[in-house]
Amino acid sequence: MNIRLKTPAQIKKLKKAGRVVAEVLDLISENVRPGVTTKKLDDLAAAHFKKRNARAAFLGYQGFPAHICVSIDDEVVHGIPSDRRLEEGQIVSVDVGSIVDGYYGDSARSFAVGGITNGAGKLLEATREALNRGIEACVIGNRLGDLSAAIQRYAESRGFSVVRDLVGHGIGTRMHEEPQVPNFGEPGTGIELEEGLVLAIEPMINAGKYEVRMLSDGWTIVTDDGSLSAHFEHTVAITSNGPEILTLR
Ligand code: MG
Ligand code: MG
Repeated sequence: MNIRLKTPAQIKKLKKAGRVVAEVLDLISENVRPGVTTKKLDDLAAAHFKKRNARAAFLGYQGFPAHICVSIDDEVVHGIPSDRRLEEGQIVSVDVGSIVDGYYGDSARSFAVGGITNGAGKLLEATREALNRGIEACVIGNRLGDLSAAIQRYAESRGFSVVRDLVGHGIGTRMHEEPQVPNFGEPGTGIELEEGLVLAIEPMINAGKYEVRMLSDGWTIVTDDGSLSAHFEHTVAITSNGPEILTLR
């Protein structure tokens, strides 16, 4: 495996890219409401990237046609912004990637559109907390499987399921670097977590079964059983002071 550990100077650059991602997500959180089109959210993101002299990492990535991914309800990830309008009661997952001076940031959040059901609220809360549990396991000497298992254990303890077909990843001067970071696994297995390892940790948690499939647009991943899905992601550096979240303001 070709894992590229990052120096403190490189982590600083990743933090700059991460900050822009956090700004875009904050901007989107202020604009998620019933009636807004997902294209409008994409336009807001595009304008902010421009203002900050950053590039949208997803635009053109393997041909992806927009600046951000916007996935509604049973859509897990990779939804394409369009003229579709958000509706009261939906949950919407927004994934944002940036490039600043050649360094990448990657983060995602799921939002409630207006009032949502208790069940949907619990899914959002559980997915956010599953990410926290994964981040807490980002300690030198732990193994990757400890991180994966922490996410899985928490999500399943809340009665939800963990998507298997999509995983997190190392990140740096490319969006996807080694290693892959599954959201399920066995404690005590996998590579040892070392200082300078930077990971995009991104649990995708389903209210129903874990199976997913792709829509005919060739991008959008949906739950196979039509159940709701949520997605939270941070870019995290493993340091001698513990985990450092890079996708914050
Ligand atoms: Mg992402
Ligand atoms: Mg990612």
